[in-house]
Formats: sequence, C-alpha cells, structure tokens
Amino acid sequence: TEQSLMRAMSLFTFNSTFKSNVRFCDIFSMTSDGAAFQYCCDEFIEEYKDQTFDQMAGTDARGFILGAVLAHQYGAGFVPIRKLGKLPGEVIRLDSTSEYAKNKLELNPSHVKKDGKILFTDDLLATGGTAQSSIKLIRQAGGQVEQAAFLISIPKLGGEKKMTDMGVKVYTLFEME
Ligand code: IMP
Repeated sequence: TEQSLMRAMSLFTFNSTFKSNVRFCDIFSMTSDGAAFQYCCDEFIEEYKDQTFDQMAGTDARGFILGAVLAHQYGAGFVPIRKLGKLPGEVIRLDSTSEYAKNKLELNPSHVKKDGKILFTDDLLATGGTAQSSIKLIRQAGGQVEQAAFLISIPKLGGEKKMTDMGVKVYTLFEME
C-alpha cells in the first residue's frame, strides 16, 4: 500500500559525515525493520513475477541483500561481484568509480551462466559507476543483463541515464534528491 511505501521511505536515515561530501543514505535503518523490509522485497518480487531469470548478480556488499532474496524467490542462482581480493579462483577485474569511492571490482566468470538471463541488483544507484562496471564484468563473462533493480535511485547523479545508454532497464522503489 501507499502507506507501507511511505513508512519504509521514512525509515531511511542520512548521514553527512560518514563519507566526506556525500549525503549518505543508510539503508539498514530500513532493512532492520521486519515489516518495511518485507514490504520492499515484495514490491520487487511483484515487479518481476512474470519473468524468469537464470541468475541474480549483486555487488559487494549491500547488493547481496536484495539479490539473495530475489534469487530464492525465483529459483535463480546468485553471483557476487566483489571488491579487490575477496573472491577465490580466477577472476576478471575492472576499475569503478562511485559517488564517493574508487574501487576495483572482481567477478569469477565461472560463476556466470553463459547466455543466461541475469538481473543485476544493488541497494542504491547514484552516478551509476558501480552498476556500469559490474554489468560490464557480467557481460564479459557471457551473461545477459538487460534489467537492474535498486532500492533507491538519485536521478540527478546520472546513473539512470548510464544504465539506459548501456541497454539496461532500471526499476527502483524510491527516488531521492
Ligand atoms: P554509484 O556508483 O555512484 O552509482 O554509487 C552506488 C554505489 O555506491 C552502490 O554500490 C551503493 O551501495 C554505494 N552508495 C553510493 N551512495 C550511497 C548512499 O548514499 N548510501 C548507500 N550506498 C551508497
């Protein structure tokens, strides 16, 4: 309901000193509330209920949360994209720049189903740098990504445009300034 959506929205908290220069949105003040987290997960489940996916892919670390929930719901696999040095095995690697950090992201291509239909998930879409590099890695490994799901988007930072430009359709529950 509209009321559940507004309540979930009201639970996000903001911190301006945690990461310098950005208004950091804490998603865990929402996910730590059982009813709100369940409501948000159910909205995503509803959005994709008429599709099938081979795998979900999410980026270290908050992208694992929604990704794992949706993987279970749809009987899909879960593939992690991780920060430097966290994944065992032979990995492929790309630089990425986010709203507040530079990272090296890694993927183990053996985890990706070749030509599989994969939904990319993360908690928040800001400049789109993280999602862009993550999706490039999945595509390099042979996966097909045409859709991405985020709890929150900040459209003025350009992430949605970046996704559209690379042929990825975005679904978000909340838009923030
Ligand atoms: P982008 O790469 O600029 O789109 O930033 C998105 C990435 O940085 C995601 O992996 C988010 O988890 C993280 N991020 C950026 N801003 C925030 C925020 O305000 N709250 C939580 N995560 C954020």
